Parts: sequence; C-alpha cells; structure tokens
Amino acid sequence: MSQEDIILVNNNFSLQAASLWNKIPQTKQQLILNNVYCVQCRVAVTMVNVSGFVEESSLVLKGSCGVCGENVARVIEEIN
Ligand SMILES: [Zn+2]
Repeated sequence: MSQEDIILVNNNFSLQAASLWNKIPQTKQQLILNNVYCVQCRVAVTMVNVSGFVEESSLVLKGSCGVCGENVARVIEEIN
C-alpha cells in the first residue's frame, strides 16, 4: 500500500462510506478528488480535508477547496 492510499480514507469517513470508497479504484478516487467544482474559484479544484458519509445509498464527500478553502462537496451515485 502506498502512502496515497492512506490519505484518502481517514477518520472522517463513516465505516459505510469508507467501504464504498474503497471499492473505487485508486486512480478513479484521485480523479474524483481532483475534479471537484468550486463555486468560488469557478473551476474544478482539488478537495482537501475530505470527509465521507452515505446518504440515500450515495456516497457523499465533503471537504474544502484546495485553492480558496470554500466548502465543496461531491456526490457519487454509481458505485459497483
Ligand atoms: Zn475554491
């Protein structure tokens, strides 16, 4: 396991969210986290301080914009 694997899932993920997140290939996880739209920056940014939980069977990621610190979120509906 590389160091990057460890960064993505942390104590801010619920158990359910972590198990869903872990089913996503690492390359796709990074694509997801590196392409989060920030309303403040008006571009896709990297989400930092990520926390995850499950809402209505979707994985919801919440965090901060890596550029300006604005709250950003990403809902992932399709997880196989
Ligand atoms: Zn921003």
